Amino acid sequence: PAIRVRKPDWLRVRAPTSTGFAETRKLMRRLNLNTVCEEAACPNIGECWTQKHATVMILGDTCTRACAFCNVKTGMPKAVDLLEPVHVAEAAGELGLEHIVITSVDRDDLPDGGASQFVKVIRELRARAPKTTIEILTPDFRNKAEDAVRAIVEARPDVYNHNLETVPRLYPTIRPGARYYHSLRLLETVKKLDPTVFTKSGVMVGLGEQRLELHQVMDDMRSADIDFLTIGQYLQPTPRHAKVEEFVTPDTFRAYASIAKAKGFLLVASSPLTRSSYHAGADFERLRAA
Ligand code: SF4
Ligand code: SF4
Repeated sequence: PAIRVRKPDWLRVRAPTSTGFAETRKLMRRLNLNTVCEEAACPNIGECWTQKHATVMILGDTCTRACAFCNVKTGMPKAVDLLEPVHVAEAAGELGLEHIVITSVDRDDLPDGGASQFVKVIRELRARAPKTTIEILTPDFRNKAEDAVRAIVEARPDVYNHNLETVPRLYPTIRPGARYYHSLRLLETVKKLDPTVFTKSGVMVGLGEQRLELHQVMDDMRSADIDFLTIGQYLQPTPRHAKVEEFVTPDTFRAYASIAKAKGFLLVASSPLTRSSYHAGADFERLRAA
């Protein structure tokens, strides 16, 4: 059944109908690639795909976890597609991307958690689309994190993103398969291994967090030397998922942005429709040009 909660006006988006949208979809199908834009039912898909910005989701469309906020399907994933790294690089070339965001489902079933596929994707992109800057958004790799992070950082992405998603108090209900301090440490490790890689993290708001809890998360992130922060409104993808506790107002998002900037983040995106990858390329280019 449809969700009956009326969204406030600031969350209304236009239906995806442009030619750019249709072309992006055709390309993804042809190259057998999944996108988080579709799998997560992202509200920005009309805008992003019209501009041919898409976030590729590697390692299949089935996740070994079941986070309470996430629309990606859960189950036993299929075998890894060996052609995927080449296809990602082809997509970057055909879309003419200056910046690409690559994410994945969690693959707790694989011995390396899927890290080697990230490495292969980065290598193919560097070889076939050398001008494209690369942002990866990885899972937490659970108990394989040390080796996984080391391997990926050695492949030298431009930005390493891993989302903390919410405040620690809400982890047991919202992100039950993960640990807050593990995720924080993962990002700290990236920076220690290679300080030239930018680190990035994000949270969803409207899940019942208190403002002060979010300020504390920002402090924790800065202690772990995280460079970029994204904050966006959580939207309930289906009635089976966690409820929206609050539609956070644009003013509060602006207030979060000012606080985050004062705490020293190099890039902050905070608005109702902000997602990890929303305007990621443009923001990164602005920073590099500054
Ligand atoms: Fe895709 Fe990110 Fe844009 Fe959403 S914000 S449509 S996930 S690129
Ligand atoms: Fe979704 Fe990631 Fe959680 Fe899997 S691990 S359910 S893809 S948020």
